[in-house]
Amino acid sequence: MLNHRGRLWEGFLDLLFPPSPRCWGCNAPGGLDGRGLCRVCVAEMSGWKRVNFPCRVCGRLMDQPGLCRRCGKGLPPFVVARAAGPFRGCLKNAVTRLKFAGRRELAKPLGDLLATVVAGEPQLAGAVVVVPVPLAPARLAERGYNQAVLLARRLAWNLNLPVDEHSLVRLVHTPPQAALNRPQRLKNLQEAFRVSDRGRLQGRHVLLVDDILTTGATAAECCRALLRGGAGSIGVVTVATAMEHPFDNKTTQNMENMTLFPLSPT
Ligand SMILES: [Zn+2]
Ligand SMILES: [Zn+2]
Repeated sequence: MLNHRGRLWEGFLDLLFPPSPRCWGCNAPGGLDGRGLCRVCVAEMSGWKRVNFPCRVCGRLMDQPGLCRRCGKGLPPFVVARAAGPFRGCLKNAVTRLKFAGRRELAKPLGDLLATVVAGEPQLAGAVVVVPVPLAPARLAERGYNQAVLLARRLAWNLNLPVDEHSLVRLVHTPPQAALNRPQRLKNLQEAFRVSDRGRLQGRHVLLVDDILTTGATAAECCRALLRGGAGSIGVVTVATAMEHPFDNKTTQNMENMTLFPLSPT
């Protein structure tokens, strides 16, 4: 039934937004590969893979293999997090347009990209249900859609898994994260999420989906709520992620500000 729903969703997207002959990464016309990317963006994506190593746990991109500094200080409440690349170039363009410019059709190539990320990570491949990071109700009303839900639906369609859009709920309208420092951000997120129905996720391996992993605080709070709500374990997949080296926190901070300001908070 859910697979059927996924197919209906795909058909609906095709109807509303006929497949674009332009690259989803940079808007260049023509010469696209099977994923809808031009040669420049394909080269950019493979260039990242050559020089970046994801942290073994959180997927933050580093210039050498191993654990990032954050995970070295204490492991996050998820098994593993992975992304297609850094929040730069074509991924930054696409995520920003999906999120802030109403370009919902980009959830299709980006959801397909997430599926390739999941296929490449055995710890993610065992998930049995896909859960999007929820938006605060007020923000959802303002934007009209949750980009994480659109990505989760397309990803789940690829993986032939159910999507659970209702078990994980966001409780309060938190102030925009960009306006806060790190301790304030963490406090802001604490207990912002809750599982509405324990039974549905009991003991299950959940694949949590979001557009971008920055500090990882939002994903971590979602995971804590999911675990409190009975989930067995959680893997996280996002389109883009942060880079640790050589700019570390400064870059992460700048990246968040670029993402969130002045367009709109997440
Ligand atoms: Zn391109
Ligand atoms: Zn890490």
